[in-house]
Amino acid sequence: SQARTFTYQALPMRVVMGTGVLDQLADEIDRAGLKRVLVLCSPPQQALGEAVAQLIGDRAVGVHPHARMHVPVESAAAARDRVAELGADGCVAVGGGSAIGLGKAIALEHDLKIIAVPTTYAGSEMTSVWGLTEHGRKRTGKDPRVLPVSVLYDPELTLSLPAAVSVTSGMNAIAHAVEALYAPDASPIISLMAEEGVRSLAAALPAVAADGKDLPARADAQYGAWLCGACLGATRMSLHHKLCHALGGTLDLPHAETHTVVLPHALAYNQPAAPDAAAALRRALDGAADPATALWELARRLGAPGSLRELGMEQNDISRIVEQTLAHPYANPRQVTADRLTRLLSRAWAGEPPT
Ligand code: NAD
Repeated sequence: SQARTFTYQALPMRVVMGTGVLDQLADEIDRAGLKRVLVLCSPPQQALGEAVAQLIGDRAVGVHPHARMHVPVESAAAARDRVAELGADGCVAVGGGSAIGLGKAIALEHDLKIIAVPTTYAGSEMTSVWGLTEHGRKRTGKDPRVLPVSVLYDPELTLSLPAAVSVTSGMNAIAHAVEALYAPDASPIISLMAEEGVRSLAAALPAVAADGKDLPARADAQYGAWLCGACLGATRMSLHHKLCHALGGTLDLPHAETHTVVLPHALAYNQPAAPDAAAALRRALDGAADPATALWELARRLGAPGSLRELGMEQNDISRIVEQTLAHPYANPRQVTADRLTRLLSRAWAGEPPT
């Protein structure tokens, strides 16, 4: 059958998951043969960065708490200078996609190893995709050198992630799995991971939103995020990710929130043309008849933003995003036309349910 015709290439990396595994960071650094690592984090997480540096003792040569969303080139240049100045031979990136993205930007030029300690559900740690933003334009590329050699998933580090961020970050992760299910390079093993990732996250997010300190729910959410991140790392993304890339890059809309708003609409658009993906999502979403509606309702129930308008988009920006999303071809299960895309974005802008 068609489902049995595929190519699957595993990415060479180590994953260590479990409550308290942060204590194994020093061992992971030694295992990777690193002697002088720079700890990277975002400004609000400086205290965590310092604590991590302390934990690994003299293996740390410094803490660089200047990671920014979408990795501005200036921020990457400053971090590379710091690495050169300190003679660092590796980086430990602690945080979300911003800290890990900064590590990747360094690895791209300095060819040094990254160890990632994710604290959100974005999934960057599982991919060899890097991004750099200059003059409001984000360039991305794929390079095996930016893939972390080792990833430590410790759910305790996610306990402080605010409920609102947890929900949108979790929906961001679910989006990776959704698009992996109908990707042009989908494969059975990735589809299994995608289904399990959605199941785990969709079940855990209500508990996480109700009580951010619920450690078992946090562990389930992080397990799901790992699987979804692996799906992102293994496949090429379609309409949903192209839309979010255009909305984030052109209008500077917030990353995870934008994914949350757009996902049900993009899925509603694609699911009629991707029956196997829809069936997997129905199984993952507790037998929901319509996966797009189920995700939309989940986001509503958990208090996530429901419209692009509330994220700051102007209605007259819709045509610009349509143009950008159509400018470069990419694989998508259903043909994308300007008319249909305008309709999709208009509904997402106004916060209407997906159709
Ligand atoms: P982020 O890293 O900026 O984190 C969001 C906010 O949450 C930040 O202010 C951060 O300091 C804070 N935070 C993170 N963990 C926390 C915790 N445990 N407790 C309290 N606060 C915490 O954003 P993100 O959503 O993780 O990642 C988005 C970025 O990553 C975007 O730039 C996106 O393009 C990129 N990304 C890249 C890939 C890839 O494969 N290259 C994949 C996914 C996302």
